Amino acid sequence: MEDCIFCKIINGDFGTEFVYENDDAVVFKDINPKADTHLLVVPRIHVESLNELNDEALLGRLMMTVKEAANKAGLKSYRTVINTGKEAGQEVFHMHIHILSGDIRL
Ligand code: AMP
Ligand code: ZN
Repeated sequence: MEDCIFCKIINGDFGTEFVYENDDAVVFKDINPKADTHLLVVPRIHVESLNELNDEALLGRLMMTVKEAANKAGLKSYRTVINTGKEAGQEVFHMHIHILSGDIRL
């Protein structure tokens, strides 16, 4: 989607390094980390938030992607966060899952 920063990242517009990727999602480091390791799992399709994501199978695969990315990053213990809606702190309206590990400052 035009004007969506995460769509642009997925498109390679900023040359962002993907620490993990598969057919469903890309995973990259948060630019403003709130933990020693702070990754974002971002579906390749543009969906505003969890509220608009109604594909059950994709949602399941995204959670599997969380585990795969955490495993690849060598994380055994981590927190996952999904902010849904402005009042809950969502800033980027392309659904994503945070992975936080280490000293979490959130
Ligand atoms: P949320 O508040 O759940 O919408 O999270 C959005 C996250 O995206 C924040 O933690 C930002 O630091 C992060 N972010 C915004 N722009 C970028 C970017 N260009 N590259 C990596 N992370 C970003
Ligand atoms: Zn998008």
